[in-house]
Amino acid sequence: MLSDAHCHFFSTAFFTALARQRGPTASAQDLYQELQWDDPGTPETLADRWVQALDANDVGRAALIASVPGDEASVAIAIARHPSRLVGFFMLDPSAIDAIERVRRALSEQGLRALCLFPAMHGVPLHDERTLRVVEAAAAIPGAAVFVHCGVLSVGVRRKLGLPSRFDIRLGDPLGVSRLALTFPRTPFLVPHFGAGLLRETLMAADTCANIHLDTSSSNSWIRYTPGLTLEAVFKTAISVAGSRRLLFGTDSSFFPRGWQRGVYDAQKTALTAAGVPAADQDLIFGGNFDRIFAS
Ligand SMILES: [Zn+2]
Repeated sequence: MLSDAHCHFFSTAFFTALARQRGPTASAQDLYQELQWDDPGTPETLADRWVQALDANDVGRAALIASVPGDEASVAIAIARHPSRLVGFFMLDPSAIDAIERVRRALSEQGLRALCLFPAMHGVPLHDERTLRVVEAAAAIPGAAVFVHCGVLSVGVRRKLGLPSRFDIRLGDPLGVSRLALTFPRTPFLVPHFGAGLLRETLMAADTCANIHLDTSSSNSWIRYTPGLTLEAVFKTAISVAGSRRLLFGTDSSFFPRGWQRGVYDAQKTALTAAGVPAADQDLIFGGNFDRIFAS
């Protein structure tokens, strides 16, 4: 059974937060109408829609990321409604005054499983004391994981809405993840999109830290930065360094009506098969690893 390690929960609260960034008169409704995306409705409605999309594609479980700081409650409702299908992740800004308390609450009483850091977006370096403190708070909770976005960061919804995205992508350095992963060796760390352009650095980090995992999500268009690179070669190289047990399939699906992105799965399945990856290893990548790390 497939498990998707990387989807976004674009709740009404998510659009409300983006609307606030646009101006005092903008509303969540203005935004999703402008995008011609569906009204997400309540977290319960959106959670049900996600499960329908997973059912339609024979996907067993999916990680849903609260994709703006402060939206943990929406994802908490979704996972409480479908605990056997949905796993909660949440974006956190380590510079927030209540960051440590938010991490504790999200990973304990709210039942979420992974803290997600976007250093390039929030301007807090991975070696910063504030980052260390929130990771320490997550690592103290059994079963919790830490996701760190590295490499190129482009947030499609922000771009479409013309919201300023003055990200400092120097801060998303996978080598900075290795120091955190060495400090908290029992905590699984996830680097999405094979490091989003920093494949070499991600593999260097993974080679030195057995608790660093890579997610395979999105169209991986960063491949175009390296002449001649193919998804098949990316998989072969990643498996040769980190092994099949540390790759987690993901799509980066986010909004409706588009829903779950079958095309991303098809492209990865084709690449893995062309790379000659045995079925048992593909099973780990397409779900086994996710289900081991996020045992329900
Ligand atoms: Zn994503």
